[in-house]
Amino acid sequence: MSVNRQLAHHTWSEVAALDKTEGVVILPIGAVEQHGHHLPLLTDALIVNRMLEAALAALPDDVAAWALPTLPYGKSNEHTGFPGTVSLSAQTLMAVLHDIARSLADAGFRRLAFLNGHGGNAALLEMTAREIRVATGLLCFSLQPALFMQPPFSISDEERRFGFHGGELETSLLLTIAPELVQMERAVRHYADYPVPAPSPETGEGRGGGSSLFFFGPASSAWLSRDWSESGIFGDATLGTAEKGDALIAAGGQRLADLIRVISTFEPAL
Ligand SMILES: [Zn+2]
Repeated sequence: MSVNRQLAHHTWSEVAALDKTEGVVILPIGAVEQHGHHLPLLTDALIVNRMLEAALAALPDDVAAWALPTLPYGKSNEHTGFPGTVSLSAQTLMAVLHDIARSLADAGFRRLAFLNGHGGNAALLEMTAREIRVATGLLCFSLQPALFMQPPFSISDEERRFGFHGGELETSLLLTIAPELVQMERAVRHYADYPVPAPSPETGEGRGGGSSLFFFGPASSAWLSRDWSESGIFGDATLGTAEKGDALIAAGGQRLADLIRVISTFEPAL
């Protein structure tokens, strides 16, 4: 029988008996937020769940890694104004993460990894991971969507730079994960662009690059999606296909599995 990696499927005495010198507990974190007219609010949580499932299935049995139930809510206030978006405040999310980390540290675990499915959580998770490291002693990692949202097929330059919400990649993933929740006839294409004074390799850093300087570059503008997209979409959702979704899951799952294996025995140098 293969290892049951769902931590919450075990009993407390089984958890007590686990050898925790090695091993990492993974907390998937999603969001309940607008994803345009064609994708469900739960998109990010569904994606991160499926990616983790693929990663855990690809892990050899001797790697110690356990998943917690997904935290479906995230910090989604960049999508304020789109009905159905349910956001935790930064303070609340931070407090929840601290409480989860404290519980794991008390149980004797040594490593915690946040597996983030929503870009809007990223900055807070990175900061909170360090706070947790200092407060509890846990080795705390924040694994971001860029780890598993790397298409093993070619996409347009525009989509690569501006397709960051509900575009080709997320639509493809939902078409394979939960096709019954996708309304492709309502999918749209929308790119938010803004002229920058001097596009350069330096300003091209970050997820968007080029003229997305004000979104993910070093001059980010604390953007709100309602200021830039009527549908809520950034990208070309009409390019989504289930085949691309399958390829993303296979590539992302393997990439995450390789990383989890390393993290499970990670130790600082001193
Ligand atoms: Zn999303």
